[in-house]
Amino acid sequence: MSRKKIIAGNWKMNMTPSQAVKLCEELKPLVANDDVDVVYCVPAIDIVPVVEAVKGTNVEVGAENMYFEEKGAYTGEISAEMLVDAGVKYVIIGHSERRDYFKECDCLLNKKVKKAFEAGLTPILCCGESLEQREMGITLDFIRLQIKSDLKDITADQVKNMVIAYEPIWAIGTGKTATSDQAQEVCKAIRDCIAEVYDTDTAEAVRIQYGGSMNAGNAAELLAKPDIDGGLVGGASLKADFGKIVNYNK
Ligand code: PEP
Repeated sequence: MSRKKIIAGNWKMNMTPSQAVKLCEELKPLVANDDVDVVYCVPAIDIVPVVEAVKGTNVEVGAENMYFEEKGAYTGEISAEMLVDAGVKYVIIGHSERRDYFKECDCLLNKKVKKAFEAGLTPILCCGESLEQREMGITLDFIRLQIKSDLKDITADQVKNMVIAYEPIWAIGTGKTATSDQAQEVCKAIRDCIAEVYDTDTAEAVRIQYGGSMNAGNAAELLAKPDIDGGLVGGASLKADFGKIVNYNK
């Protein structure tokens, strides 16, 4: 099965609304590539201006987080319905920074994944091991556990339409990229895990990204691997390099 590549930027806590609009303008001519789905996952306050700024282009907008409750007394949170109404199509769930700094556990992330689907958003579910786990040789076991817990009660049809991002924590923002073989090994293990829990059709359909210091220099090699269907890009998504990653195949 051929899966369309998906390159998503994760802007993290960068870009004021006016800087965000400027960046969209700068990237506009650089990120055109019909072979690839392009997504900007942006801070909540940037969503409305960025949705406006990318109108008429090939870019979709994603959020970096959401809460699983419908509405009510959850000060500071943003609901899935709010995101959809603002024009958001994707939402990152379970980024390692949220798991670590904000103590988001698999049980909470499972609720967020369910709610995202219910609202019509496409989750980009992040998973990935720490350096310590890799050195202990438990990378694949740990990631299988994350995937199974985060996708509890999620249907095969839903999984077919979601995105899973494999992001080794030791490679995020460190300039240390996983080798293409290391990334392929884990992305394949994730696909095998989906085949085991669901079926081969589902495993063949789900798109699996690699994330961790992806840049213009290493994207083509990573994206050439059979089980790597795209990238979740942090630092390099804030500059012209992002256009080179999106056009890795040109
Ligand atoms: C990320 O935060 O999702 C990420 C992959 O960051 P970076 O590309 O900067 O390593």
